Amino acid sequence: MNQKREYDIHTIIKNHPYLLGNEFENLNLKHEKVYQDRTRADFVFADNGLSIVVEVKKGYIDAEMLVQALHYLDNEKKENPRRFLKGILVGSGIVNTLENEIKKSGYEFQIKLLDVDIPTNIKICDKCRRANSLFSTLCRYCNSKKFIIDPFLFQ
Ligand SMILES: [Zn+2]
Repeated sequence: MNQKREYDIHTIIKNHPYLLGNEFENLNLKHEKVYQDRTRADFVFADNGLSIVVEVKKGYIDAEMLVQALHYLDNEKKENPRRFLKGILVGSGIVNTLENEIKKSGYEFQIKLLDVDIPTNIKICDKCRRANSLFSTLCRYCNSKKFIIDPFLFQ
């Protein structure tokens, strides 16, 4: 793997939240949101009616990660009792038993896999300046073929 192209996935999501889905672009983002109990969620996206807690790690999505996300969702619920709450877990895979745990949690969760749903090696479209997988030939947002290879050149 070319180390120069591999950026931290937290940095990628912070700078390019639409990689989680188009709707994330229009939500307010708190990176590393700290709660009163001093715990810290990786990302919380929100608007008046909605809070989405996003937990990210490079390894497999496991029970420990789910427990953390549930804790942050409970905190969000306390802060904003009327909002619709949702969790997103991002990792390189998911342990077998977790789907069941998620169902039992009572919260809605989405699983997103690195290099499947979210690229970890990115390049920036020369035209629309959005992040694409390093391996794309066409920009998925504007179909341009020209890319800037250093994704953080314009930060
Ligand atoms: Zn583009």
